[in-house]
Amino acid sequence: FSTVTVMDVPFIKATNQEFLTQLQTDIDQKKRRFIVTANPEIVLYAKDHPEYKAIIKAADYITPDGIGIIKAAQTIHQPLPERVTGYDTMVALLEKANTQHLRVYLLGAKPEVMAAVVTKVQQQYPGIDLVGYHDGYFKEDTQILADIHDKQPQLIFVGLGYPKQENWIKQNLTQAQAIWMGVGGSFDVLSG
Ligand code: UDP
Repeated sequence: FSTVTVMDVPFIKATNQEFLTQLQTDIDQKKRRFIVTANPEIVLYAKDHPEYKAIIKAADYITPDGIGIIKAAQTIHQPLPERVTGYDTMVALLEKANTQHLRVYLLGAKPEVMAAVVTKVQQQYPGIDLVGYHDGYFKEDTQILADIHDKQPQLIFVGLGYPKQENWIKQNLTQAQAIWMGVGGSFDVLSG
């Protein structure tokens, strides 16, 4: 995709549909990908935290997750087509995973939230091969990483909030040839 840079962060110029088509190709070709769905809070945080900014800029796709980003792009006369949110992208990928029986790993949120998410996924997306999950309040990630390495999920959703989730993904990306995506508070939404 071509990109539009807002506050030194390059956003992909793609509709939800175009983005999902590209992700399908990535899944089919077993590519390792890192998705950041950046809202204005993330962009502002990155402005003051160069190390975090470098990490998100190393992602394969940064999507505009908020009307503020769309407006900013309009202001500089380089419009982005539409919002591409973390929640919508996660749900669309879960639907793909359901019909294609993809291997999925879920990490993040409080233990009771993750338990509710697992129940919901099993009921609503019975075709998903849920190879593992863990809440987001771990002290050690050795077991989680061993599990991911062993099961080789195709989709890994990480809901630890920013900047934690992007830092964690960047640090551990090599463990699986997967689509890795930070999903913020999306598990809380999905569980409700
Ligand atoms: N979270 C977590 N581990 C932590 C801190 C936060 O799993 O150490 C989870 C928290 O339970 C919530 C999510 O990360 O599910 C953060 O949600 P929030 O909406 O605050 O994040 P944002 O979307 O702003 O990144």
